[in-house]
Amino acid sequence: MKKFEFWFIVGSQDLYGQGVLDTVDARAKEMAAELTKVLPYPVVYKVTAKTNREITETVKEANYCEECAGIITWCHTFSPSKMWINGLAALQKPYCHFATQYNVGIPNEEIDMDFMNLNQAAHGDREHGFIAARLRMPRKVIAGHWQDEAVHRRLGDWMKAAVGAAVSRGMKVMRFGDNMREVAVTEGDKVEVQIKLGWQVNTWAVGDLVKEMNTVTEAEIDALMAEYEKNYDIATDNIASIRYQAKEEIAIKRMMDREGCKAFSNTFQDLYGMEQLPGLASQHLMAQGYGYGGEGDWKVSAMTAVLKAMGEGGNGASAFMEDYTYHLVKGQEYSLGAHMLEVCPSLAADKPRIETHHLGIGMNEKDPARLVFEGKAGPAVVASLIDMGGRLRLIVQDIEAVKPIMPMPNLPVARVMWRAMPDLTTGLECWITAGGAHHTVLSYDVSAEMLRDWARMMDIEFVHISKDTTPEKLEEELLVKDLIWKLK
Ligand code: MN
Repeated sequence: MKKFEFWFIVGSQDLYGQGVLDTVDARAKEMAAELTKVLPYPVVYKVTAKTNREITETVKEANYCEECAGIITWCHTFSPSKMWINGLAALQKPYCHFATQYNVGIPNEEIDMDFMNLNQAAHGDREHGFIAARLRMPRKVIAGHWQDEAVHRRLGDWMKAAVGAAVSRGMKVMRFGDNMREVAVTEGDKVEVQIKLGWQVNTWAVGDLVKEMNTVTEAEIDALMAEYEKNYDIATDNIASIRYQAKEEIAIKRMMDREGCKAFSNTFQDLYGMEQLPGLASQHLMAQGYGYGGEGDWKVSAMTAVLKAMGEGGNGASAFMEDYTYHLVKGQEYSLGAHMLEVCPSLAADKPRIETHHLGIGMNEKDPARLVFEGKAGPAVVASLIDMGGRLRLIVQDIEAVKPIMPMPNLPVARVMWRAMPDLTTGLECWITAGGAHHTVLSYDVSAEMLRDWARMMDIEFVHISKDTTPEKLEEELLVKDLIWKLK
């Protein structure tokens, strides 16, 4: 993981005299240090900016600093905004305006005109907000006291979204084989995603992967087998199948690492020279933070890697998912999600089992090993990125994952059961109206608000289906957005 940090730029001006500026400087230092203790990424105090030049120089530095994933601004005192124009106009990093103040309350006895001149964020942050509005800057505004826990959570979530933006801009996807024949929703404009999201999506021959697999040694397979045994219960006698998956994993990882790729896709229609569709191999790669998409779905693969990076510790509980089948019994309506093989064990409620089963679809000569488990219960989202032709749309739906209500002993794959918002059928109508795919990224620790922030940073359309969404409202929203995005 790259070490990301966020720069704290405090606005002021020269009129106040050195005494006030020293106090602002000391407090900004203290706030950055305290925030660093409670936020997922460090806050680095850079400057109390008093001139156009200072702001512009700091922004230029931020643009070129790889570790800097975004800037956070705040005006302890008044900072005339014309001096921010050149800097903000040049800004290429995510931007959060943190409307806070140093003191939590108004000190009844102490307050006088000196106190007012020092503590005038209510005044300064409004001037600061105007210029970003006038510049039409994509930004996040977070208001509240800097020691408040709810504010920490929101700042932290924004930071994670900004890290998602940084990871997205460096994303390289390795494709083995093309998209599954005739499928529409997994297609997309690779040039457009590189322009908007930074993704480099390119193809490598399946034959190159097979060649790489042939260089994997028995000792390397032994080492990975030891790791499988540590993390999973081996529930099959077919050890040869597990060893074959280990060989696939080592070869895919080697090729990705060599090319700097963080995500890959393949298709069961093109496994020439391979005995098994990578199942366990893909699952264990996802557990390590790599993105994956089945049937050549490179969009969902890259999104999986981005959402993983946005999650806890830079590798959260996010996974490639597919809507499979419904339980439409009145009063207990649920979706059942799974995939042919490849569901990331970061979703697992308990220790996954390695099983081998026949796979009827595709070119599998041998029964592929895969991890089988139930998904955790809890609030989550599913996200789908689709290409609308000329623009990208990110659709996010809130869901409530549940412990699967039946054991399904003959289902040979990992499974997650959930209730979509606002309810299964209304949520389904909304999802289909918006054009959401059957492939999604399911995440327990990336929220819809984080994805809204991320979409704003990447300048793509965002659609949220929540407990408050109705099909009528959504239809109107989509019509309006269609117009807006044609004009943009
Ligand atoms: Mn699929």
